[in-house]
Amino acid sequence: MTSTLRWGLIGASTIAREWMIGAIRSAGGDVVSVMSGDQERGAAYAEANRIPHATTSLDALLGEVDAVYISTTNELHYDQVLRSARAGRHVLCEKPLALTVGEAREMVDVCRAAGVVLGTNHHLRNAGTHRAMREAIAAGRIGCPLFARVFHAVCLPAHLQGWRLTNPGAGAGVVLDITVHDADTLRFVLADDPVEVTALTQSAGLSQGDVEDGAMGAIRFKSGLLAQFHDAFTTAHAKTGFEVHGTEGSLIGTDCMTQRAVGDVLLRTASGEELLPIDRTNLYERSVARFTAAVAGDGDPAATGEDGVWSLAVAEAALKSARTSRVITVDPVQSASPKVSQ
Ligand code: NDP
Repeated sequence: MTSTLRWGLIGASTIAREWMIGAIRSAGGDVVSVMSGDQERGAAYAEANRIPHATTSLDALLGEVDAVYISTTNELHYDQVLRSARAGRHVLCEKPLALTVGEAREMVDVCRAAGVVLGTNHHLRNAGTHRAMREAIAAGRIGCPLFARVFHAVCLPAHLQGWRLTNPGAGAGVVLDITVHDADTLRFVLADDPVEVTALTQSAGLSQGDVEDGAMGAIRFKSGLLAQFHDAFTTAHAKTGFEVHGTEGSLIGTDCMTQRAVGDVLLRTASGEELLPIDRTNLYERSVARFTAAVAGDGDPAATGEDGVWSLAVAEAALKSARTSRVITVDPVQSASPKVSQ
C-alpha cells in the first residue's frame, strides 16, 4: 500500500458529494475513482468533484484503490462489501450496513477473514457533543444513568425525497435511515448495549405504500436504563436533542442529532448548571481520520462493523415490534442468512 490511501467511491451519492469526498481529502486520502450504475452520470459526477476516473465496473474500481467508501442505496451494501473485502480492500460502509442482521453479520465475518478494516459511517459518534456526554457519564457526573431521550424528528430535505420514501427494496423508511443512528449514539454515549425494543411507526403521507415516515419507541439497555426515541421525516419545526438523566444529574444536548458540528450540552446537577466544552471538529473528517488510522494499524474506526450490526439489530427489532405489537429482543448475533461465505 502507498502512504497516501487511494480511495474508490462506490456510489455517486449525495452524502459523498456533500461531506465525504472533502473528508477523505482532509484526511490526506486521494479519491481516485467513482463507480456509478450509469456511465454518463458517473462521468459528470467525477468531473464535478475532481475525481480522475469514473467506471460502471466494481472490479475495475477495486483494481485501482486501497480502500472503498460505499454509499449506494442500502440493498447494495451487502454484495459490494463482500466483493471489496474479498479483493483485499478496506471498507468504510454507510449505515444501515445491510437490510438484515444476518447479512451484516456475514459482512463483518468476511472482512475479518480477509484481514481488512470494516467501518460503519455512524457520524454522530464523532460529534463533540456526544463525546462530551460520554465522557461526563464515564466520569460519574450524573451518577447512575436511568433514562435517555433522543429527539431526531426532522424534515427530510426535498433533494433526498427519493428512494427513502418510496422503495422498500432499497431499505426505505425512517427506521433504517434514522433509528439506526439513535441506536448507535445511545450505545456510544452510554457505553451500554440494548436488550429489547418496543416501537410504533407512522405513515403520515410523505412516504408511499407501507414505508414509515415517523417512529417512536423505547429501548431497554443491559444496565436497566430506558431510552425513548422519536424519529421522523415530516417535522419541519422540531429541534433535535439527546438527553441522559441520572441519579445525580442530567445531560441536555440540544441541536446535536445533525451532520454539522453544532449543538450544546448542558449539565444540570444539585450544584447548578454548566455548559460542557465542545470540540467542533467536522464529524465526517473525524470519521475518515479514525478509519485511516485503523488501516495504518492504529486503533479501530470510530464505529466498527460490529457497531453497524448492533444498530441494525435495534432497527430490525423496532420494525418487528411495530409490525407485531410486541416487545422484541435485540439479537446482534443471529446469522439469518442461508448463504455460505466463500
Ligand atoms: P443518494 O440517493 O444521493 O445516492 C444513492 C444512489 O442513488 C447513488 O449511488 C446513485 O447511484 C443514485 N443517485 C444519486 N443521485 C442520483 C440522481 N440525481 N439521478 C439518478 N441516480 C442518482 O443517497 P444518499 O447520499 O442520500 O445516501 C446514500 C447512502 O448513504 C445510504 O446508505 C444512506 O443511508 C447513507 N447516508 C448516510 C448519512 C450519514 O450521515 N452517515 C447521511 C446520508 C446518507 P449510482 O451510484 O449508480 O450513480
